[in-house]
Amino acid sequence: MQKYFPIRGGLLGRSLGNVKAVDDISLSINRGSTLGVVGESGCGKTTAGRCTLMLTRPTAGNVYYDMPANLRERMLELESEEQALLDKNPQAKGKKKGSIPELEQIRDDYALNRRSPDDLRLLRRNMQIVFQDPYSSLNPRMLIKDIIAEPMKLHGISSGIGITNRVKELMERVGLAPEHIYRYPHEFSGGQRQRIGVAKALALNPNFIVLDEPTSALDVSVQSQILNLLNDLQREMNLTYMFISHDLSTIRYMCDTVCIMYLGKIAEIGDKKTIFDRPLHPYTEALLNSIPVPDPKLKRKRVPLSGDIPSPANPPKGCRFHTRCKYREAICEEVEPRLEDKGNGHLVACHFR
Ligand code: SF4
Repeated sequence: MQKYFPIRGGLLGRSLGNVKAVDDISLSINRGSTLGVVGESGCGKTTAGRCTLMLTRPTAGNVYYDMPANLRERMLELESEEQALLDKNPQAKGKKKGSIPELEQIRDDYALNRRSPDDLRLLRRNMQIVFQDPYSSLNPRMLIKDIIAEPMKLHGISSGIGITNRVKELMERVGLAPEHIYRYPHEFSGGQRQRIGVAKALALNPNFIVLDEPTSALDVSVQSQILNLLNDLQREMNLTYMFISHDLSTIRYMCDTVCIMYLGKIAEIGDKKTIFDRPLHPYTEALLNSIPVPDPKLKRKRVPLSGDIPSPANPPKGCRFHTRCKYREAICEEVEPRLEDKGNGHLVACHFR
């Protein structure tokens, strides 16, 4: 998947380049599991989440929903074949339909960007988002009853007393008193407002939810309550989560698989234990070293992360991390490392790891 945002300037609004927010990444999430996407701000994690839900249209690439695992394997094989054909005949790249009918059929059946607007609207019932800031994501002039009922009304699912009962049921489910449905958002605390955001996301009985930094605007004391609520809901409803965060401790608590992003690219991805116990990418090492360790006797090998993240409008050539990497060598400034499998689905993009 790729998402570039054009930069426009001058009187005529000419294109001056692109912000490469997400640059050729590929992710998959198993049903009922949680994929954590982590990185500094500006790494593209929020854009990746929005593209996954098609709230932002990817510039290139596809998003596949509800695809059986065996078909996914087959699709990856066919995509390799397609890439080999394109390498031989680059002119075919812009063609709307590819030359492998079986791959086209899979895309027609499962790719969200090939759905009609009506189909996509129906599918959106199954895919929801919880935003970072419960203060700005809830309309302050709407009653809680109407905020939680909004998705149901938009989808014409129920009306009248049925909708009120459903709102009360959702409020109970997220730990709010159902008799408070006639209150406004400002009458609730930050943690309660995030519970309202979760209730709204659950209103249409989704099976996939993007959680975009759902606790980072909350006091530390209420963060764990919201995380526990999300874990309970996942177990009860077999929900699948994409959990976006800059906080590795939260990612460790919540996720099964962890994807480390840097400047629009995947630096490393693997199961949680591998990423936290045996990180290979220098950027992952540096991020892990930034987590405070409660025991002063436990010393970590320090790998300082210096400097700011470069602009995604003008990412460094070669390895995007080379301007901050203490292990860089000449090749890192010229050649972009490929994301390579180190075994058991542990993928790393570094020339030396
Ligand atoms: Fe560092 Fe080079 Fe590896 Fe990039 S490819 S992470 S610059 S060692």
